[in-house]
Amino acid sequence: DHVANQIAAGEVVQRPASVVKELLENSVDASATEIKLIVKDAGKTLVQVIDNGKGMSVTDSRLCFERHATSKIRHAEDLFSLGTKGFRGEALASIAAIAHVEMKTKQEQDELGTHLIIEGSKFVSQDVAVVPKGTSFSIKNLFFNIPARRNFLKSDTVEFRHIVDEFERVAMAHANIHFVLIHNGSEMFNLPASNTRQRIVNIFGGRTNEKLVPVNETTEIVSINGFVCKPEFAKKNRGEQFFFVNDRFIKSGYLHHAVMAAYEGLLKDGTQPGYFLYLDVPPNSIDINIHPTKTEIKFDDEHALYAILRSSIKHSLGQFNV
Ligand code: ADP
Ligand code: MG
Repeated sequence: DHVANQIAAGEVVQRPASVVKELLENSVDASATEIKLIVKDAGKTLVQVIDNGKGMSVTDSRLCFERHATSKIRHAEDLFSLGTKGFRGEALASIAAIAHVEMKTKQEQDELGTHLIIEGSKFVSQDVAVVPKGTSFSIKNLFFNIPARRNFLKSDTVEFRHIVDEFERVAMAHANIHFVLIHNGSEMFNLPASNTRQRIVNIFGGRTNEKLVPVNETTEIVSINGFVCKPEFAKKNRGEQFFFVNDRFIKSGYLHHAVMAAYEGLLKDGTQPGYFLYLDVPPNSIDINIHPTKTEIKFDDEHALYAILRSSIKHSLGQFNV
């Protein structure tokens, strides 16, 4: 029902950047090795994501717009072992409720693919079409039927900044995937498949490389990889600070505090270090279902995690004679 879809949609889709996040994560989940994001007018006119992932069958290409039609949970227990980004099956239904959506998709083994148009949850057309392997979603006229939401959008500069934030987060979590971002016809990012260190340098600029100190630690409850920045590069503003848990960007004031504690005595007053930290934990030791946009996580044993994170960073900083 359309009303329920519209209400739920507002929860998942707050701005064009929310669409970007959901589409990019779906492409990652579809095992794409190349993902291209094309944006016009900070997403207010167009958000398009093209991937070379596994595509969808004719049936699935229609089903994917049904609420809770996720292909990613087959059993209740799967909820506790989330290997993929999506797990609620709400994103596409929500987006289709409040925008004009065009989708092209084809699986490797199929000769022909599907071209489908859905606007405000209404199927407009579905045709057999000659399309490349993978999936392309074009989202136009976001919030066309919720004028209040549309008017609430900020300037293109602000909305595009949010899009870049989401793009960078997904790209940092998946260095092995080639990502491209084009805005109003200009290529803003072209990130070839690489390793994490090179991906970070490609996003944040050449001098980033000399700032990075590797952090690597494996224990029973967590494995930590990534980089912290040398204290002399600390800045007055928060700058580049990222946590990824099981390849998902998250925010955590608690873990941030653990990082700051590791730098005790090393920073000038009022400055903050950059960090790019990737934590892998057993999926059943976290709860990521507490927020619809999934950027906050609850850990089973956060005290132990805090201690391990702090000591491993302290150790890394010490090794680099700072
Ligand atoms: P979720 O990601 O939580 O499963 P979504 O609404 O984001 O829910 O997507 C619904 C379903 O549509 C997915 O489970 C997947 O089967 C399919 N799907 C979406 N995007 C893609 C894509 N780019 N390639 C292949 N399948 C996709
Ligand atoms: Mg999804």
